[in-house]
Amino acid sequence: MRIILLGAPGAGKGTVAKMLTELDGSVQISTGDILRGAVKNGTELGKKADSFMKAGDLVPDDLIMGIMEERLQEDDCKAGFLLDGFPRTIPQAEALKQLLSRIGTDIQAAINIDVPRDVILDRLTTRRTCSNSECQEIYNVKTKPTKKEGICDKCGSPVIQRDDETTEAISKRLDTYNEKTAPLAGFYEKEGLLFTVDATSSDAVVSGIKGRVGL
Ligand code: AMP
Repeated sequence: MRIILLGAPGAGKGTVAKMLTELDGSVQISTGDILRGAVKNGTELGKKADSFMKAGDLVPDDLIMGIMEERLQEDDCKAGFLLDGFPRTIPQAEALKQLLSRIGTDIQAAINIDVPRDVILDRLTTRRTCSNSECQEIYNVKTKPTKKEGICDKCGSPVIQRDDETTEAISKRLDTYNEKTAPLAGFYEKEGLLFTVDATSSDAVVSGIKGRVGL
């Protein structure tokens, strides 16, 4: 499948994307994961992105489009792709449309995962992420704790609270989302691609998406 996952930070895009990749071999492309990997490895991209990310601001569109231009042309994308956390602004959505047409592909749907703000705040402050940039498995101290405290079940690396998941940074990220990313729903509605699901559970979201893309 070739879809975009829209939704505020903490709406469950990453979890849903991981479940969907198992259905048909599509790859999950998370710009947040790519950027965190770059920061950890101290690359040029990471150095440019770091301060924006820590503040809960968006990284400039040209850096993001540079990443996506390369990533979408890698071989594994031929099996399909799930865009998680991208596009985040109207200019990114417009640039994506042009990029896809240039490389001879398109998207089937933009899925809007709709979750109330109080649920999101609770989820994000209790979320923990594997510090290994190759893994980045997500846990939750309340609903999905690690088997051994503070240690990733999958790879054994320490599990941490992200710098941008303090209460202050989360508030900023949600404001940024409302201001810059929420308008994308209108953009994709006009394109005839918008599909909104109420995120009562990740399973419910996944079955809604399966129906929409005909799986
Ligand atoms: P995420 O894990 O998707 O919530 O992303 C974490 C942070 O990475 C965001 O708060 C932004 O600073 C940055 N980021 C990720 N994706 C994008 C994007 N498409 N455009 C701009 N900034 C992004």
